[in-house]
Amino acid sequence: MLSTMQDGPLSLATLLRYASTAKAAGEVATWTGDDVRRLSYSDLGRQAGRLANALSSLGVGLTDRVATFMWNNNEHLVAYNAIPAMGSVLHALNIRLFPEQLVYVANHAEDKVILLDGSLVPLLAPLLPQLEAVEHVVVVNGDPASLEAPAGVEVHGYDELLGAQSEDYDYPVVDERQAAAMCYTSGTTGEPKGVVYSHRSTFLHSMHVCTGDGMSLSARDDVLTIVPMFHANAWGLPYAALMCGASLLMPDRFLQPEPILAMMAAEKPSFAAAVPTIWTGVLGQLATHPQDITHLRQVIVGGSAVPPAMMRAFDDEHGVTVVHAWGMTEMSPLGSVAHPPPGATGDEKWAYRISQGQFPVQVEARLVDDDGAIVPHDGESLGEVEVRGPWITASYYAPDGVAVDEAKFHDGWLRTGDVGRITPDGYLTLVDRSKDVIKSGGEWISSVDMENAVMAHPDVTEAAVIGVPDPNWDERPLVAVVLADGASAGAEDLRSSLEAHFAKWQLPEHWAFVKEVPKTSVGKFDKKVLRKQYADGELE
Ligand code: ADP
Repeated sequence: MLSTMQDGPLSLATLLRYASTAKAAGEVATWTGDDVRRLSYSDLGRQAGRLANALSSLGVGLTDRVATFMWNNNEHLVAYNAIPAMGSVLHALNIRLFPEQLVYVANHAEDKVILLDGSLVPLLAPLLPQLEAVEHVVVVNGDPASLEAPAGVEVHGYDELLGAQSEDYDYPVVDERQAAAMCYTSGTTGEPKGVVYSHRSTFLHSMHVCTGDGMSLSARDDVLTIVPMFHANAWGLPYAALMCGASLLMPDRFLQPEPILAMMAAEKPSFAAAVPTIWTGVLGQLATHPQDITHLRQVIVGGSAVPPAMMRAFDDEHGVTVVHAWGMTEMSPLGSVAHPPPGATGDEKWAYRISQGQFPVQVEARLVDDDGAIVPHDGESLGEVEVRGPWITASYYAPDGVAVDEAKFHDGWLRTGDVGRITPDGYLTLVDRSKDVIKSGGEWISSVDMENAVMAHPDVTEAAVIGVPDPNWDERPLVAVVLADGASAGAEDLRSSLEAHFAKWQLPEHWAFVKEVPKTSVGKFDKKVLRKQYADGELE
């Protein structure tokens, strides 16, 4: 028997109309270096109407891809909403990709129009002649004359283009399964792979972000969104904020610890989100320039494992709760969030907090061992995490049809490449990425556990661990360490600080003291580069 319920499509046009009326008092504010530029959600609705009309006037229609090459700011949020609402597809380009990868993804997605931040013209201009599908470039927050148009491409100024447009746009009703946005993985191995989000998946994901055990986002929040809008949709925060009326504070290009603390002092956000390496920098700055940050009721950290020492430092020294979350581009991105269950206290509570968190009902997970057998959720057995659910991709984007990559999908489940254990109550603890785990003498060493233990040493700012080839043991761990300013700990000191946490055979004999751990385009430790540096004899 079918239900009697209505079946209206979940739609980002509905979300935009709702936010710009019911949540009109919410606002996005962008840091300018010493102040903010504000845009209320009602004005955002008007600007989105103008942008939709402007893009239509350039010939953009249903399912055409419109790319952004922008910082997190007001105009980017307008684009985030106008493009899917008009039935086109938003493609936020990662401004830190290598040039050849940028060319690859823009051509693969067949981006027709690019909204380009004025400050990023020098970065994109040399690549434009290679972008085969691009017909228009709209320069935002900058001078269009600064960009010389290659043959076949028209250049426009954002303000001039939008100024002439009506703020009313008749957004079409689209099937909720239609593409709304796309994002490419950063391609740590091979070419980047495209994930296409639907109106439905984005809507459902946003609802989850707003639940208490999701990110508990609400109209009472002001979210400092440091995670870039090209990194897995800024973890879903922009759409979720419009849904619940939370305000957004955008850092634009000011991503160093000093300006981040300056914008916090000025705007006192209640919520912030960024990868761990950003927070390492902020903690370091706070150590020398103390500042009250207790206005932050919650900081969501994910993208890589959060060092427990960092969570404790935020708790003990600054009175701020860091909440650990796990996910990936392929998962919209939210998988699990580490809210401890009610009643957990002391060490038990910490054990929950440093785990990768609990899966919500919408994300089904299972563990699969090397032989393809399902292993139990007993909190001990290890396996690769596989997931499925309504905001998890079922394939990668293939312009010529659906191509399911057998290495990444398994009977309708996404293989995450992450190895971990799951407790009976559905909390995930990751041991490592399968390609980062160190295989020494037939046994495993978790690079993440070792990094966390080294980073708990007061003399250490950052530590990344890779496996390096060894004739006897196959692989041995190498620790690349960044010492705190003025600190003097040597390899022996650090090694002995690990003795309490690791078996003797696991203790690393290779140590490299470096100025900086190389980072990926989204700010994670770049172990591919570290491995190459080792192979080239640059470490040790
Ligand atoms: P990229 O693949 O470009 O790094 P993603 O952000 O999509 O971009 O990466 C997802 C991966 O990041 C996950 O599969 C996992 O390995 C890692 N990751 C994300 N969050 C966490 C976390 N909280 N703890 C450990 N690893 C994490």
